[in-house]
Amino acid sequence: MIKKVAIIGAGCSGLTAIKCCLDEGLEPVCFEKSSDIGGLWRFTESVDECRPSLYKSVVTNTSKEMMCYTDFPMPDDFPAYLHNSKVLEYLRLYAKRFNLLKYIQYQTEVCSVTKCSDFPSTGRWDIVTLTNGAQKNYIFDALLICNGHHSKHYLPLDSFPGIEKFKGHYIHSRFYKDSTYYQGKTVLVVGIGNSAGDIAVEISTTAKQVYVSTRRGSWVLSRISKGGLPIDMMLSTRFFTWIRNSLPSTFAARLNENMMNTWFDHANYGLEPLDRAQLKEPMVNDFLPSCILCGTVKIKPQIKAFTESSVIFEDDTVVENMDEVIFATGYTPSFPFLKDPKIIDDINGFLYKQVFPTHIEKPTLAFLGFVHPLGAILPVAELQARWATRIFKGIAHLPTVARMEDYIKKSMEFKTKWFAATRNQKLQSYFIDYMDEVAVEIDVRPNIMQLLLKDPLLAWTVCFGPSTPYQYRLNGPGMWSGAKKAISSQWERTVNPTRTRLVNKSPESGLNLKTLLSLCVLLVAILFGMYCINGISWS
Ligand code: NAP
Repeated sequence: MIKKVAIIGAGCSGLTAIKCCLDEGLEPVCFEKSSDIGGLWRFTESVDECRPSLYKSVVTNTSKEMMCYTDFPMPDDFPAYLHNSKVLEYLRLYAKRFNLLKYIQYQTEVCSVTKCSDFPSTGRWDIVTLTNGAQKNYIFDALLICNGHHSKHYLPLDSFPGIEKFKGHYIHSRFYKDSTYYQGKTVLVVGIGNSAGDIAVEISTTAKQVYVSTRRGSWVLSRISKGGLPIDMMLSTRFFTWIRNSLPSTFAARLNENMMNTWFDHANYGLEPLDRAQLKEPMVNDFLPSCILCGTVKIKPQIKAFTESSVIFEDDTVVENMDEVIFATGYTPSFPFLKDPKIIDDINGFLYKQVFPTHIEKPTLAFLGFVHPLGAILPVAELQARWATRIFKGIAHLPTVARMEDYIKKSMEFKTKWFAATRNQKLQSYFIDYMDEVAVEIDVRPNIMQLLLKDPLLAWTVCFGPSTPYQYRLNGPGMWSGAKKAISSQWERTVNPTRTRLVNKSPESGLNLKTLLSLCVLLVAILFGMYCINGISWS
């Protein structure tokens, strides 16, 4: 029987992995290479090898209600979007609340993970660690890999002809901490991900001129939606998901395009994605369009070549006297401790639902947080951990290899249809679709029909409101009695922190059209639910 579980990494995935092990009566031991928890979310002035590195100003691009763990809402006074230090504070609160710290061994690097000699029968793992120069060998019944995938930067210098001649200075965005060094300089930021957007905007306040080079373009979203509410809470709803999945893909893509262009016309700003029909992770940035409008940031196409002092772009325009280049070209997953080529093959191909290698004789190894949902990673990793620990315990089961392979094939077809062909394509997923796909494995997907009959108001909020993580604690194993309250108070926790000066606001009068429409849909659904369940006679 599985008892001892090794966890690699004490970041946001590792912490929830410890909790889920405890919830299932397993014995976790978490190995953390550094001296503290937090992983990606712990800012340090230095860039440490094999650790993610943040710049000082990083603020989350998902809101606090959408990014929390499923049974631990963020404190009421935390703002809707969090500075990185606040995320770390939240992780510390979580660790304290569930008493997780005593399961962590700090300053301990996992050097190698191999199958035990008795693997096919036991599924156990040999783990070698290094602490202050001392090597130790362990045997564990199961293993959760939670080391993140933002530690190894991706810098494809061979894609940039002439870079070896360039006399200016260049770095990868991983080494960027703040804008001080860039004052008065001409700077080029390469890439159009969230790092590129944040860094370009920050530098542009004091640099001489900032350019951003992109080969593919990107949709840019503001954190703020209608009425000043967080955009992810407005867009990540089951109702929207259902509409998107029901429409023909070209129509859904056109709808998406219109929505993305409501804030500003991406074509006019040089940002419009090359293939508008295919989605990639949008950039969330409130300031970039304004910087473009003010001319402090200029968008350029792909780089053709570098010379000693200038950059030539694909459209043959040239920027002379370039001082600095920041390559915000992303990251490459890295699992240096894994020695089994078959597992590496699975990672390079696909994992079942991004969690389980398919070609392993025993399901005693799982990856957490190795996914790019179009949403927050914390609740995703937690749901994955709930699933993995139940598999380890033997109370949930994986399908046959053939069925997993079939799922992977269909999943890849879906991703090819919906997501742009970037390096991260196979890791991309829609937030609600992905959460539901994992939730269904452990029977915690919200049961809307049951909810409709039991608590229509809650059902309405679950369908039409933001798909906040608490929804995955409403039913099934791990059900949490506070889930309903957390859902009904989610808007208060979002809006209250901004109400720092009380003003007299006249109450909204009457029902608006959207509420009326939603109520009609709800009524039809209730009647339909009753009809299906009770077989009501309509005559
Ligand atoms: P990223 O999202 O992977 O973006 C990398 C960018 O580099 C893409 O625009 C990519 O272009 C470009 N690129 C890659 N290879 C290139 C090449 N050979 N030539 C030209 N361009 C190339 O990386 P990131 O921006 O560092 O973000 C990493 C993760 O951290 C993301 O999930 C992001 O959301 C997250 N993040 C979050 C925040 C926040 O919460 N505020 C801030 C920063 C980062 P293509 O698209 O054309 O491939």
